[in-house]
Amino acid sequence: MEHFELCIVGAGVVGLALAERFARTRPRSFSIVLVESNASFGQETSSRNSEVIHAGIYYTPGSLKAQLCLEGRHLLYQYCQQHGIAHRRTGKFIVAQEHEQESLERIVRTATQNGVEDLQWVTRQALSEEEPLVLASHALYSPSTGIIDSHGLMSALLAEAEQAGVQYAPLTRVVAVEAQNGGFIVQTECGTPGHLEFFAFRCRYLINAAGLHAQELAKRIEGLDKANVPALFLSRGCYFRLSGKAPFRHLIYPVPEQNQRGLGIHATLDLAGQVRFGPDVEYVDEIDYRVPEERREIFVDAIRRYYPGLDASQLHPDYSGIRPKLCGPDGGVADFLIQDEATHGLPGLVQLFGMESPGLTASLAIARLIADKGTFQ
Ligand SMILES: Cc1cc2nc3c(=O)[nH]c(=O)nc-3n(C[C@H](O)[C@H](O)[C@H](O)COP(=O)(O)OP(=O)(O)OC[C@H]3O[C@@H](n4cnc5c(N)ncnc54)[C@H](O)[C@@H]3O)c2cc1C
Repeated sequence: MEHFELCIVGAGVVGLALAERFARTRPRSFSIVLVESNASFGQETSSRNSEVIHAGIYYTPGSLKAQLCLEGRHLLYQYCQQHGIAHRRTGKFIVAQEHEQESLERIVRTATQNGVEDLQWVTRQALSEEEPLVLASHALYSPSTGIIDSHGLMSALLAEAEQAGVQYAPLTRVVAVEAQNGGFIVQTECGTPGHLEFFAFRCRYLINAAGLHAQELAKRIEGLDKANVPALFLSRGCYFRLSGKAPFRHLIYPVPEQNQRGLGIHATLDLAGQVRFGPDVEYVDEIDYRVPEERREIFVDAIRRYYPGLDASQLHPDYSGIRPKLCGPDGGVADFLIQDEATHGLPGLVQLFGMESPGLTASLAIARLIADKGTFQ
């Protein structure tokens, strides 16, 4: 039976960043396989997001999200520059209405505790010079927020990983894992329906970076105490695209929702300069990427609070992504959950749960944190 030192399950941006980091920091004899159930990498949450490089403003101080977003943002800008990946420091305005000034003050306090040092208060006058179509009484400006070509990032990570010896296996779904003799036997199903083959291999270390399917995979690991597998809640975020000329030059965010379920329906730009609004927040029972036309009214109401000139006929349903949340609609905020032997008692296994936003921004820092762990010596 073929043997690898490390198997990474999932070629989303997190699995790819892990593959690149391990390959770069280990000798070639440390063999790595990266398995992906889809035909290509990054076809799930990693290509269904806002592609924003977050500054690290809102997260609970001391949380992994706060720490890894900040570190990840620095690493990501550096990586983009070194590898010629399209990105832009667009900057972002967080805009508030008269009664919301306190929320902005809270945001500044949290950002400062998180080490975000460049957040600036903006006068109404300065905002209207920069963004004349935006209605707000108060605003903050984050110069270190930006946008990135996430597909370009993932392609570069994969190319580097493969060059450093990683074996990449698309169309390969892990269907069962058995912990055995200090390692794992991994059973996979390879190919397309009608042409499936089964293939098993051994590995010493296993990382579960399966995104929305991380819990499902964890439940298929024989020998793992399932009491450690957290509940999964699916929270869909839809986007509506704005046709015509972009009315903004920066990203425009309202103050986040009070229940902390989302950042509020904001305006982001893509690298071609097109504006899209979203994502909203809607808990769903299954992975369903439809963008219901009925969400339009919710979007129009939310957008007109800061962009009263919106022509609703220019809004078009676009795409959606699904957040793998660890808290349900009743509220609460969960941190990224990274479990290793200290949590679940199984040597050589690392599992990542709840890798929602800012997972793209934090991906390189997540990979660094895990690859530098003593587990993999
Ligand atoms: C609406 C939305 C907006 C967001 N906006 C931003 C943003 O602007 N900035 C930001 O920093 N973050 C953002 N995020 C978060 C970011 O997109 C995610 O944190 C990140 O993409 C997670 O990557 P991942 O690799 O963990 O998961 P995924 O991209 O889901 O990758 C997991 C992979 O595992 C594979 N897989 C699953 N099970 C198996 C199996 N059994 N065998 C083999 N392969 C398997 C899947 O096919 C998939 O390719 C957003 C998320 C959402 C939903």
